[in-house]
Amino acid sequence: MAIHEFGVRELADRIRAKELSAGEAVAAIFDRIDKTEPIIQAFLHLDPEYARRRAKVIDQLSAEELQHLPLAGVPIAVKDNMTTISMPTTAGSKILKGFMSPYNATVVDRLEAAGAIIVGKTNLDEFAMGSSTEHSAYHITRNPWDTNRVPGGSSGGSAAAVAARMVPAALGSDTGGSIRQPASYCGVTGLKPTYGRVSRYGLIAFASSLDQIGPLTRNVEDARLLYEVIAGHDPLDATSLPQTVESGRPSLPDWRDVRIGVPKEYDGEGIAPRVQARYHEVLALLQEQGAQLVELSLPHTRYAIATYYLVAPAEASSNLSRFDGVRYGFRAESNELLPMYERTRAEGFGSEVTRRILLGTHALSAGYYDAYYLKAQKVRTLIRRDFELAFGQVDVILAPTTPDIAFQFGEKSQDPLQMYLSDVYTVTANLAGIPGISTPAGLIGGVPVGIQWLGAALQETRLLEIAQAFEHLWPAQPWPSVGGDL
Ligand code: GLN
Repeated sequence: MAIHEFGVRELADRIRAKELSAGEAVAAIFDRIDKTEPIIQAFLHLDPEYARRRAKVIDQLSAEELQHLPLAGVPIAVKDNMTTISMPTTAGSKILKGFMSPYNATVVDRLEAAGAIIVGKTNLDEFAMGSSTEHSAYHITRNPWDTNRVPGGSSGGSAAAVAARMVPAALGSDTGGSIRQPASYCGVTGLKPTYGRVSRYGLIAFASSLDQIGPLTRNVEDARLLYEVIAGHDPLDATSLPQTVESGRPSLPDWRDVRIGVPKEYDGEGIAPRVQARYHEVLALLQEQGAQLVELSLPHTRYAIATYYLVAPAEASSNLSRFDGVRYGFRAESNELLPMYERTRAEGFGSEVTRRILLGTHALSAGYYDAYYLKAQKVRTLIRRDFELAFGQVDVILAPTTPDIAFQFGEKSQDPLQMYLSDVYTVTANLAGIPGISTPAGLIGGVPVGIQWLGAALQETRLLEIAQAFEHLWPAQPWPSVGGDL
């Protein structure tokens, strides 16, 4: 097997055993990137020099020292809304073009301390607002399975890089589905942990009460490996949870001991019949294995999109006020202060970000606050309660990740509402703060589709064990050929 085909566990094991050097892994990865990146365009920055230097450091360690590095020599890509000292951080926006952060995000420090090698920063919808990566100020990213289709978003670059085997793993961020939805569209695994489980320090804020960082990988075991490295309390993030993160070997459940919630709200209006059919196929298979399927209702789901698209833009409008041409990156020249602010923001932000700022400031403005923002916060509580009640009865909830497979470029970008509606199955987990993971569930017409497992807050270990058991049960799928490489 070629080096770029190895997953995280396989690479780290070989590098720790000194069967393979980190230098060889980095060379193989950049060779692969050279061949596939011109087609896919998953990255905004690549730094082979930095990766080689880091590999040298890893290769000088003794076998004994390497034993303490769970990600020894593993090349990893990071979404470009997480700060890095060594490379620019743009969040996919013109307003941060060339911005160099004076500090690393906590997740970046933790990856590096675990022996990982950051190879580059991946493309995203500007400030992570979007579901297709078409809203990047720089370029689009193509879906490795069908280059006429979007990779999903906003972590489209991370998902595409993993699916094209440019890197064994990448980090994404998920505010309303941006890890799980691109994972579904690109046929990879994507985990959004419980809110507060992974430090947001150094993550450029979109909607602070919803944002969460997580891994995109080729399988569930690799997602767990990364999760265990990046999760855990961080004093630099006031919303970081104090609970310790379990680690160690997973014990896969017997399906007869698993109660799976099947919410009726995720199985009706708006879902494409082909995705619905696959969802039912998965449920039938699990039932055959002895899992107990429990039909349940999450009645406030139908308000989720409206709630999310009030709360997220409201928080975004406040978070993005800091980009004023004075403190960061791009500045439009003017002799006067006010026109300078105005022009900087008019020229620096793209149309989707501007739309969110307008939506958010409107929802927060005097006279509308009670009707929109406050009401949305109340509904959010009801959505969270729906889940709390459900997890009194079941271990995990199974749902589709997305209403349909990856769409074509341009199909939804002219119609923001259509784009927003495609987030219907993912935004609820962020509103409720619970963990969710999308795992591949085969292909439909040659492109992948995912299935989503939702767990109770802080129950990542159980969630990952169940998802891994499903991965063993479901037939393994091939990887896409990129530029006819297979
Ligand atoms: N697609 C959603 C949005 O546009 C979610 C984005 C995200 O999770 N970062 O807001």
